[in-house]
Amino acid sequence: MNIAKVIVDVPASSINQTFDYKIPERFRAMLLPGMRVIVPFGPRKIMGYVVKRVNESSFDKLKEIADVLDLTPILTPELLELGKWLAEKTVSLYITAFQAMLPQVLKANYKKELERLSRESLSAELEALFAGRDFIPYGALENSQVNFHQVQKAIQNGDIAVHYLVKSRVTKKYVTYLKPTREVHLLEEALQDMSGRAKKQQELLAFFINQSQAIELNSVLKQFKTTRSTVNALVDKGLLATFKQEVYRNPYDDHTFEETEALELTVEQREAIEPIKQNIKENAHDVFLLHGVTGSGKTEIYLQAIQDVIDKGEEAIVLVPEISLTPQMVKRFKGRFGSNVAVLHSGLSNGEKYDEWRRVHRREVQVVVGARSAVFAPFENLGIIIIDEEHENSYKQEDQPRYHARDVAVHRGAYHHCPVILGSATPALESYARAHKAVYKLSSLTRRTNDKAMPDVNVVDMRKELHAGNRSMFSRSLKENMEKRINRGEQVVLLLNRRGYSTFIMCRECGHVRECPHCDIALTYHKYSNQLKCHYCSYEEPMPLYCPSCNSDLIRFFGTGTQRIEEALTKLIPQARVLRMDVDTTRRKGAHEKLLNQFANKKADILLGTQMIAKGLDFENVTLVGVLTADSMLNLPDFRASEKTFQLLTQVSGRAGRHDLPGEVIVQTYTPEHYSIELASRYDYWQFYQQEMQMRKKFQYPPYVFLALITISHENHVKAVQSTQQIVKSLWKHVRKETVILGPTPSPIARVKDRYRYQCMIKYKHEPELRTLINKINRQFADEINKHDLQISVDMQPYQLM
Ligand code: ADP
Ligand code: ZN
Ligand code: ZN
Repeated sequence: MNIAKVIVDVPASSINQTFDYKIPERFRAMLLPGMRVIVPFGPRKIMGYVVKRVNESSFDKLKEIADVLDLTPILTPELLELGKWLAEKTVSLYITAFQAMLPQVLKANYKKELERLSRESLSAELEALFAGRDFIPYGALENSQVNFHQVQKAIQNGDIAVHYLVKSRVTKKYVTYLKPTREVHLLEEALQDMSGRAKKQQELLAFFINQSQAIELNSVLKQFKTTRSTVNALVDKGLLATFKQEVYRNPYDDHTFEETEALELTVEQREAIEPIKQNIKENAHDVFLLHGVTGSGKTEIYLQAIQDVIDKGEEAIVLVPEISLTPQMVKRFKGRFGSNVAVLHSGLSNGEKYDEWRRVHRREVQVVVGARSAVFAPFENLGIIIIDEEHENSYKQEDQPRYHARDVAVHRGAYHHCPVILGSATPALESYARAHKAVYKLSSLTRRTNDKAMPDVNVVDMRKELHAGNRSMFSRSLKENMEKRINRGEQVVLLLNRRGYSTFIMCRECGHVRECPHCDIALTYHKYSNQLKCHYCSYEEPMPLYCPSCNSDLIRFFGTGTQRIEEALTKLIPQARVLRMDVDTTRRKGAHEKLLNQFANKKADILLGTQMIAKGLDFENVTLVGVLTADSMLNLPDFRASEKTFQLLTQVSGRAGRHDLPGEVIVQTYTPEHYSIELASRYDYWQFYQQEMQMRKKFQYPPYVFLALITISHENHVKAVQSTQQIVKSLWKHVRKETVILGPTPSPIARVKDRYRYQCMIKYKHEPELRTLINKINRQFADEINKHDLQISVDMQPYQLM
């Protein structure tokens, strides 16, 4: 087995395969699949992942592996398999799939060094290598005759450590400890012999006579108000010794979490958790859809199921959307499981992320709570995977590999024979459809645990406001209500439902929105050409002067910024203190949390913001939630627009009146009759599901069909169009006759960084060869891609259609 199959770090489809390398003698005893290596590739040396060791190669002249970067594999056998599956499923490169599963620190090429941790004597060879030094460059090891296997052992013993140097020694953090090295009676003798002038030394020595345990050096220095030289004097006399121990950077101090205990479950909760517990007990794999309104006790179910898994000696992954990964959320898990929890999210520094990841890698924790990529946590005995708010789009990665965490979770759950739980108040239509067909097991929680009713939702028809002469963005009812609440010292959350540049057009007289006659999707206004365009099928028409439905001339395109609303709001209610939260005010790290704290501490009356305020916030004092323009999302060029609107409205409604004060929701809209708005105001998910499924069926969208989106871009407009045409043509030649290919159409964002973007959308029911076909097309265009800068990107499960 002296040949290694390696996936090299060259992101090109022509190189998307393993390469064989000879394993030189010095690495033979230690090299395992899942380790990173440095290999010669053409004129360069590059990084790669060993995926397999074999006896034979079909090539004669093999080059040798130049270096091994890891002493323990960083990818488990399961993750190596998963990476392969992921790459194939998403039509990505193997290398990008592997990279996606690892923390940043392990992806780059860092310089390495070895550190001696132990004062005890090492083997003669290692002693010679270190030659009295604490740190040696890794190259010294490579140039020596020292056997790597021996180094591996020393690392396992904690005698030496490897560091990856990211400019400075940030990858691992060490703390120096101080401990006595002699028996107590010898220390006592030494104390008596000491001269009276060495007061501090005496105090310190007396301290260690009474206590033989190692103490952190810094705390000793502080306690005795002394300096390092006092310590050094005692170390030189051979009475005390210092040593270093690795500590993890802990972004959450575990001591600040109050312990919580399992609550007595309600009848509904018990019914929901029973089959999950059964799964855990029997090592069975089912996917459970836990459909429960906000506050119905889903999290408590997660916690108790995880407890079973921990008791069984297995591990748990909990995914929550990035934006909900607030200290409040972390507290729920740390409160129950303490330091047995690692947290992974993008707010951590690279070093912190690496530390948390290593706690998982070394099996020092059994629970990981994190955003999307935590689904790759390198556990080997998974007992449960939980995805909270499973409908959230942030579970879909929008660059290569374009995967959905839900698919990865289900794949890993099947591998580990463990349950997967998808929780949501508003499940994704696809998930609910699967539950409806009994592919997933459905559990429903219909009541809040405190039996508080969901707040009343009042829908305000903005067309009527206009007719009554109110041209502002605030309805009379919203204004009056805000004033009433503020005067009572209560707080208001205002949601401006806006995403990016929503440039659909709408008649302010009758609410008519111009839609594509073929696609049931709002047309997008293109200012430059003054045209309305469909981004799915390229239908276009000129911008109308009068409303096609009522002939009013009040037809215009929409889009309002938070800043403008803030100004209008302060004019409308001058006494109100407004806090604005949007991409502009939350750009800096920690800004998000700071704003929320200000609001929680009642430093403001109104919190005004975009989508980001809808998630997981829980303020006792909020009694009114206002949604300014419920329509703006409804009319995005996206077949999920209604679903997203329903989800968002349900979610914001959950923000009001969670505690003792009763809450109310006011939703402003120009289309109160739209089913997503009407049904969200009645919290009627089931009715919404049925109605939306009918639409999806009629216009052939998921879950009735699968989608694949291919986006082609090039600096030259003609080249982009022609390449897309060619691709569409080859697709047509090979797909089944019931498969639909839409395009070429310009992408909704038709030019990015001077590159023209075209796309085609494939709608299919059964197309087992589609991935192979796309790969073949990719290879056909290899030359264009490598030499002429053509880009082809493939999304096998598109969520972002813009
Ligand atoms: P969800 O995750 O569905 O929004 P949570 O699990 O956060 O709901 O529960 C909402 C509130 O109800 C929390 O304060 C939680 O502590 C409490 N709760 C949950 N289950 C119970 C129970 N069985 N008995 C009493 N209180 C509960
Ligand atoms: Zn269309
Ligand atoms: Zn009209």
